Amino acid sequence: MTAKKILWLLLLVVTVSTGVVSCSSDDNGNGGITPPEIDETLNRQTTGSSARDLLSDEKYSRIVLEILYVQGYEPNAASVENLKDFLGERMHKPDGIDVEMTAIESPGDTVYSVERVAEIERELRANYNYEDEIAVFVFFADQKSDQDEGNKVVLGAAYWNTSFVIYESTIQDIAARTGTPSRTVLESTVMQHEFGHLLGLVNFGTDLTSDHQDEDHGHHCDVEDCLMYYLAESGGDLSNVISGGSIPELDPLCIADLQANGGK
Ligand SMILES: [Zn+2]
Ligand SMILES: [Zn+2]
Repeated sequence: MTAKKILWLLLLVVTVSTGVVSCSSDDNGNGGITPPEIDETLNRQTTGSSARDLLSDEKYSRIVLEILYVQGYEPNAASVENLKDFLGERMHKPDGIDVEMTAIESPGDTVYSVERVAEIERELRANYNYEDEIAVFVFFADQKSDQDEGNKVVLGAAYWNTSFVIYESTIQDIAARTGTPSRTVLESTVMQHEFGHLLGLVNFGTDLTSDHQDEDHGHHCDVEDCLMYYLAESGGDLSNVISGGSIPELDPLCIADLQANGGK
């Protein structure tokens, strides 16, 4: 066996401590028109805590997905369309799912911790929950995770209630090798998996309706071909989950949990 084995980690869920940073605007002195007040702390809560707000239209009837990427590390258009389709199948957002893409120059970091990503978010995120719109932020990084160790690589991580990071440089490296899934399949899988954590899976803000949590691996599903399966200890690669080059779907047990928490 000369082939280098790679363990794939999709699953890191880290909550960055919630700093109290409140940003509101006062009267701008322009004819007494007060700009809308934005409470950024609504978007700096524990992962999974906004599951119902994302799934149902009780508070928010629309969603904006803000994708901030380092130039050269944007997701394929097909991956973004796949994510929109996935969200449309699970969330009640009758007034729409909008995507906003913004490019930035490389911040110059050589690795990214989730704390560093959160710092970039604080600085550059443009969209926060407001009125009937909930906002989700995704950062596409140009360097790897600081958690990568040897052959274990992290492809994505959810860190707040409406935030996750995709380690796009790592995805591009893997997709460029022979015998690996395509970049679109990898990006789509990781984005949908991380979004699944924002939706409260598994038992992470959305209650279980049946016993399918893989407790040895945290907030993951024990159904092997489910999108929310924990892959890192498969000892191999994503081929356990990504078979035939297709993106894994949520299994019926995870879908039942989402439906019981206001989703489709
Ligand atoms: Zn995960
Ligand atoms: Zn599942």
